[in-house]
Amino acid sequence: MSHILIVEDEAAIADTLIYALQAEGYATTWLPLAEAALAFQQRSPADLLILDVGLPDISGFEACKRLRRFSEVPVIFLTARDAEIDRVVGLEIGADDYVVKPFSPREVAARVKAILKRMAPRAVEPASAPRGPFLLDETRVQIHYHGQLLGLTRHEFRLLQTLLGQPERVFSREQLLDGVGVAADAGYERNIDSHIKSLRAKLRQVAADAEPIQTHRGLGYSLRLV
Ligand code: CA
Repeated sequence: MSHILIVEDEAAIADTLIYALQAEGYATTWLPLAEAALAFQQRSPADLLILDVGLPDISGFEACKRLRRFSEVPVIFLTARDAEIDRVVGLEIGADDYVVKPFSPREVAARVKAILKRMAPRAVEPASAPRGPFLLDETRVQIHYHGQLLGLTRHEFRLLQTLLGQPERVFSREQLLDGVGVAADAGYERNIDSHIKSLRAKLRQVAADAEPIQTHRGLGYSLRLV
């Protein structure tokens, strides 16, 4: 069940939103002040914020700016004046949508639904993707090989992740450096070789004779899904 945080100082408006959102099956929390809402969102993040622009402590704009320092949660602004709409539409604030008062609570609930639906594919994407005997888990920064978790350094992980991105493709050392995210220089190119060596040793511990990493003399390396 998605959880909606409503930040609105007018109880009557908040009530209509709570009613409409709960009717759609959402859990709701109502807070009348921005500071409290930011603290709440840091402690127990809601899935979406409905944020009034005119709040008594700090403005909804300022609250959203502060929110964006630690959260990418979708925000729908409630605005009262045309001048506010211009700023929301300017989007430098990082809002996902806005509604103008007076609004229909059902319309707001529909917007909430649309935004959460747009977000959903990212949320349910599998955390790990099998590629042959490899299982890449980008969320946990882990790679399994023949069902065993590899104990990789950060560079080894990036290296193997790059190779796994395009099996059978020959990557130059420079391209692999790019994948690892290190600026290429002469010393580091040789370093790739030593990372490959330790990576191979770790793969061999799981499957002694498979040798998935292929050397292409004068060119670089490729990966076979074996
Ligand atoms: Ca207000």
